[in-house]
Amino acid sequence: MHKEENNMVKSISVLGCTGSIGRQTLAVAEHIGMPVAALTANRKIDMLEEQARRLRPRFVAVYDEQAAKQFKTAVADTDIKVGSGMEGLIEAAAMEGTDCVVTAVSGAVGLRPTLAAISEKKRIALANKETLVCAGDIVMGRARETGAEIVPVDSEHSAIFQCLMGREKGELHKILLTGSGGPFRGKAREELENVTPEQAVRHPNWSMGAKISVDSATMMNKGLEFVEAMHLFGVSPDDIQVVIHPQSVIHSMVELVDGTVIAQLGVPDMGLPIQLALTYPRRCPSMFRRLDFSSLQALSFEAPDYEKTPCLKLAMDCARLGGTAPCVMSAANEVAVGLFLRGQLGYNRIYEAAASAVEKLGYVKQPDLETILAADEAARTYVLENFK
Ligand code: MG
Repeated sequence: MHKEENNMVKSISVLGCTGSIGRQTLAVAEHIGMPVAALTANRKIDMLEEQARRLRPRFVAVYDEQAAKQFKTAVADTDIKVGSGMEGLIEAAAMEGTDCVVTAVSGAVGLRPTLAAISEKKRIALANKETLVCAGDIVMGRARETGAEIVPVDSEHSAIFQCLMGREKGELHKILLTGSGGPFRGKAREELENVTPEQAVRHPNWSMGAKISVDSATMMNKGLEFVEAMHLFGVSPDDIQVVIHPQSVIHSMVELVDGTVIAQLGVPDMGLPIQLALTYPRRCPSMFRRLDFSSLQALSFEAPDYEKTPCLKLAMDCARLGGTAPCVMSAANEVAVGLFLRGQLGYNRIYEAAASAVEKLGYVKQPDLETILAADEAARTYVLENFK
């Protein structure tokens, strides 16, 4: 192909390799024969050891110090170098011999390693929402400075990215961000009072980790994606419209200035956007199911009902506020979802915790990285102290 030839990824680092996206990334890497240079995990060292022995990365970092020691002993018979803590994550992201970093860790812990990789001009296959939700201005600003590519892995953003490939910025009129509406679509808040974690994580179309599944049920996930899209594509909140599309066949669309709408369609499988983030600007055959139009019944669309999904509304309001507001909301939500999953907080209280944190903690308009991390921490403490 053209000049992009030298942009081809030759090997990857996967941050958060034992999570849902991490495991799928490794499966894709094996399928397309992409070498894995580094892996990082938090503390699931049994799975990590199996992955490391299979993929033979040069470097593995375990975030939890204690688990790192155990892992080091476990792989003492190999030549794998082992690191730990934030330093280890940063080394895995910025080290020589990797040119694409898949950020599949969850939470604000992904921020520093992502910035380190951007400084080294590595491609970021971005699967960590918090990176842009919390520090979108800083991260995108750094990427512009160094010329590091940011290729989204989230299916909606990958769709938008694909719809915009080869287009001028001025051709875009608005982004149509689609969402299935989750397992409780159309239900009033009163009906959801007694929702259990088991019910909330059962998504109709996608198979995902527990936290993001709950976020999909509350539609906070769509809200986080709204903030992410704003940063990733450099548009204002008014340029993004959320469209409910229960079948998850269209993964998002763009409307161009002349009124033309371009959509990206495919089966709901995260493997597809993951593979594209690794092979971009090329495509190669994948191992996934294909869309079968003879079995597709109908594609339907509706407007979001903000009364029923206040988390989505809250996120859109925070997007407009900017500064640390989205970060506070996201961190408070993350803690609240954790409490909900452990049976310590009611389902409807998730929204209340996030909204209350945003209201009570205020926000800083143009925060630096330290201020962002402090706001993240303050929001977490606030929810633990007031909602546990
Ligand atoms: Mg998504």
